[in-house]
Amino acid sequence: MTKRVFDLIVLGSGGAGLSAALAAAGEGMSVCLLEKGPHIGGGTATSYGTIWAPANRLAAQAGLDDDVAQGMAYAQFCAGGTALDTNLATYVNHASRVMDRLMSWGVGLELAIGLPDAFYPHGPGSCGDGRRMIQATPIQRSAMGEWAEALRPAHYCPPGVSWGDVARWGGFANRRNWDAQELARREKEGWLAAGQGLVAQLLVAFLKMGGHLQLNAGATELVFSEQRVGGVRIPSTDSTFEARHGVVLACGGYEGNAELVQRFEGLPNWLNPFAPTNQGDGMVMATEHGAAIYRSAVNHGLLVGCAIPTRENEFFSIGLHGMPYPGAIAVNQQGERFCDESRFQEVVHAFHHFDRVKHRFINLPAHMVFDDRYRQLYAIAGAPPGQAAPDWVAQAPTLEALSIKIGVDATGLLKTVERFNQFATDGEDLDFGRGQSAFSKSTAGDANKGKYAQLGPLDTPPYYAIPLRVGGIVGTGLLTNEHAQVMHVRGHPIAGLYACGNTAAPTDTGVGYQGGASIGSGVIFGCLAAEHAAHARH
Ligand SMILES: Cc1cc2nc3c(=O)[nH]c(=O)nc-3n(C[C@H](O)[C@H](O)[C@H](O)COP(=O)(O)OP(=O)(O)OC[C@H]3O[C@@H](n4cnc5c(N)ncnc54)[C@H](O)[C@@H]3O)c2cc1C
Repeated sequence: MTKRVFDLIVLGSGGAGLSAALAAAGEGMSVCLLEKGPHIGGGTATSYGTIWAPANRLAAQAGLDDDVAQGMAYAQFCAGGTALDTNLATYVNHASRVMDRLMSWGVGLELAIGLPDAFYPHGPGSCGDGRRMIQATPIQRSAMGEWAEALRPAHYCPPGVSWGDVARWGGFANRRNWDAQELARREKEGWLAAGQGLVAQLLVAFLKMGGHLQLNAGATELVFSEQRVGGVRIPSTDSTFEARHGVVLACGGYEGNAELVQRFEGLPNWLNPFAPTNQGDGMVMATEHGAAIYRSAVNHGLLVGCAIPTRENEFFSIGLHGMPYPGAIAVNQQGERFCDESRFQEVVHAFHHFDRVKHRFINLPAHMVFDDRYRQLYAIAGAPPGQAAPDWVAQAPTLEALSIKIGVDATGLLKTVERFNQFATDGEDLDFGRGQSAFSKSTAGDANKGKYAQLGPLDTPPYYAIPLRVGGIVGTGLLTNEHAQVMHVRGHPIAGLYACGNTAAPTDTGVGYQGGASIGSGVIFGCLAAEHAAHARH
């Protein structure tokens, strides 16, 4: 058995783990970051990479007003009374300070101007222009040195393109008009942005401070020493990593663990959007020693997706990248629409409807249905716009033939499309108000189409259908306090044990999910965990 000793051990190389590790190194601790998989970055690398940080210094420097009270009002509105007050206040109060600390250690950050507090723009304290949304400044892959090829691949934002760029360039639906030469240049020069950029920025800063990283090192057990957590064991490599001042669990959630998903999420069409290695290890390791778990009342941190069979059923976020665009609708097995498809949170909410007479989820299974005009204009599951639909997409010359292929009621589907086409012609969805919400107006749909940004008829054969799945940030995790310490079921912190990111429950954000709040929470509480461990050693 090999044994190594550090001040702090951090498990997981997503945004939460990297921030905890970097902050610990910044506090002068020796740190080892252990990553279970072969790739660096977890779900953070494949994300849009934004951080929601109210009243931050970058906004102030740009002359954009904001204050903590406004940020607090918005965070409280989002949480709807379901967050723990202390943790919510900790997020808001420390956001700006943590961003400053990251930048002081060399992490390049900038405002993602153009990205509003889009999830609840009607909420008190909401900001309309992106002054609270922070993203990584672009960084070249070569800066990662020997780790460059280990960065987790991403496919939502093209290489070197940030979510802020996407907003400035007219949104994802306008991809056919993006500057192809500029995209090619960024790819050729190895630029990284969005989630990959954030991971690279954090990693490079961590390595510069002498941090130690090991891949393919999945810890499965905590080691206790003198009544406190003193390290982790990795049976696969027969090794133990001792931690003088604590262990930070930043292993993501249990998104890839079907049994835990069934136990806590309760939707039958779940698909993991993050790394397959996110198996709930942090929750299992900690509960084994009496850690308390906390379940969010309703989980709104979910996305609508589809599986890409040619990429091992990888999750693709079609609820943001496709379904809001004109010419696509979502239907249930009765062939009926059931929500405003331009707002993915409405779709997820409608998935939960349980029919008390038929005794089943009434809107599952569900399909996204679209026509050939849609295919000509928009990217299907990330492929360049205008390409032939992939083989795994159901296709038929008529809606009747399509309905038979996908097991949907034909009469229902024809009636639905006829009615929807009328709405699309009139420019108003009388059933679900598609495109009317502030979120849809700012963030979904094809801005080129003006009044018809989210509404278009399905009238150009052939017709296509893709089965819908749900996946996202899990709603249950370890109960933590304002220092990111893991709480015991008896109500006291477990000495030497911290959790952040999706390993910790969303006690700071509660049920309401605002873009940037997930990585924001991981980064802020990761930093606070390291600070607490560093101060506790004196
Ligand atoms: C399309 C999309 C876009 C998104 N965009 C945003 C956004 O812009 N802003 C935002 O806030 N959120 C966004 N999210 C959500 C966000 O990406 C995640 O919730 C967040 O990145 C999770 O970070 P994490 O560090 O907790 O976990 P992860 O980034 O998933 O990292 C966890 C890591 O832990 C490793 N691990 C697991 N078990 C062990 C173990 N036993 N030992 C060691 N390592 C282990 C895993 O392999 C993994 O690498 C987006 C999500 C999607 C799907």
